Amino acid sequence: MIARTGNRFLAKRQKMVDELLVPLGIKDKRTLKVMGQTPRHMFLDSALHDRAYEDYAAPLGDGQTASKPSTVALMTQTAELKGNETVLEVGTGSGYQTAILSQLAERVYTIERINSFSNRARKTFNELGLNNVVCLVGDGSTGAKSYAPFDVILVTAGAPQIPVPLAKQLKEGGRMIVPVGNGAEQELLLVVRAGDRFTVKKKEGCSFVPLIGKHGWKTKPSKYS
Ligand code: SAH
Repeated sequence: MIARTGNRFLAKRQKMVDELLVPLGIKDKRTLKVMGQTPRHMFLDSALHDRAYEDYAAPLGDGQTASKPSTVALMTQTAELKGNETVLEVGTGSGYQTAILSQLAERVYTIERINSFSNRARKTFNELGLNNVVCLVGDGSTGAKSYAPFDVILVTAGAPQIPVPLAKQLKEGGRMIVPVGNGAEQELLLVVRAGDRFTVKKKEGCSFVPLIGKHGWKTKPSKYS
């Protein structure tokens, strides 16, 4: 649980839950509760604090953005966390999605390719007392084999296809939520493991920055610019 949320932005946070997430169809009570308690502004630059509870993808620098709150809520609800899961998140970014997952699961491994983002997020996790998060730096399109298998894998960057090594790092019955598409627009897919087979369900349309790596895009695709 969050150690020191404070009352700053409390009203804006509640408004985000009541006027954005509930009307959007977010029904999972645990998701709504932690999003109502987690200080999203602390994951963003101070110039963006006033707008931290609005539904837009906030810039993080380096052309990257933090997922907007509605996307975080949809992905979290789709993960159906009960509290005892080991989770891998690919694309730490701001660390906000990580913070939400960490309060709903047992342990979260989060991997980011940009070192400075990872360092910054780690500091915020420490400030908030979120001590079940492990920050890794590297190409998350190959997963995190030494910590596998995972109950849930959340990919928060757009992939050209389902990254196979990631799917193989799921536990039996485990699920992966991954945006897949050939440009700036993707479809959110839910991949569920049953033995050596995987079922794929299409969820909704979405728009993430590219997953760059061995099993993602090799370089930033031109379709994104
Ligand atoms: N969950 C984050 C999303 C940030 S955007 C948030 O809500 O703040 C996606 C992030 O994925 C970016 O920070 C980008 O640097 C990172 N990323 C892209 N490709 C990656 C890869 N192969 N491995 C790890 N991180 C990656």
